[in-house]
Amino acid sequence: GKRAFIAGVADDNGYGWAIAKSLAAAGAEILVGTWVPALNIFESSLRRGKFDESRVLPDGSLMEITKVYPLDAVFDSPEDVPEDIKTNKRYAGSSNWTVKEVAESVKQDFGSIDILVHSLANGPEVTKPLLETSRNGYLAALSASSYSYISLLKHFIPIINPGGSSLSLTYIASERIIPGYGGGMSSAKAALESDTRVLAFEAGRKHKIRVNTISAGPLRSRAAKAIGF
Ligand code: NAD
Repeated sequence: GKRAFIAGVADDNGYGWAIAKSLAAAGAEILVGTWVPALNIFESSLRRGKFDESRVLPDGSLMEITKVYPLDAVFDSPEDVPEDIKTNKRYAGSSNWTVKEVAESVKQDFGSIDILVHSLANGPEVTKPLLETSRNGYLAALSASSYSYISLLKHFIPIINPGGSSLSLTYIASERIIPGYGGGMSSAKAALESDTRVLAFEAGRKHKIRVNTISAGPLRSRAAKAIGF
């Protein structure tokens, strides 16, 4: 069977969870990367059976998540983590959550994967129109929503089996004006789409790994509710 790592699952409402279920239904082993500040709630909810109804697969069995890795995809390696995050109590309880370290942990635990899914985004100023977005807000949106994919792919490529596949999720706001999708999030999705073409060229030729992005329709995930979608 195939093994999938899905980055960006912290509840049972988002695309990451739905993709995990589809892959599990198709027989894949599921590993997930969960944003560090959301880790405790996600793991305890899983343990307490809060997601059991949503874990039901078409054959009646429950999706198993083999392992949950803490992840913060805006940090590539420990050297990049600033002091205030290191000492933040929501982070201090977890370790090895930078992208490089997560890839190393997955390698240590399982050796390789076949499918990498990026289902995460964050734009701290998403509620502000682009004209009112600060430089920091814009760069943070690109860092969390676009570069995070480059970083994940770069660090996971050595453990993705040839013929493997990687996927991210984009949104139509990259091409058309969607008022309310601000803070540089429209820019971040445009970058993600352009990067997908370039990364497909590079990872395809060099490593025989496919790179795709799916422009998903609107879904009332936690992220979407936060911006009133
Ligand atoms: P979601 O809230 O389920 O998923 C986003 C996840 O990103 C959350 O689990 C969050 O904890 C995680 N995250 C945020 N910052 C992170 C970081 N620095 N490191 C690691 N994880 C981090 O919401 P969703 O809407 O399912 O989003 C998944 C993907 O789908 C995103 O790329 C989003 O832009 C895209 N998308 C969503 C919609 C929609 O309508 N919901 C439409 C098109 C595309």
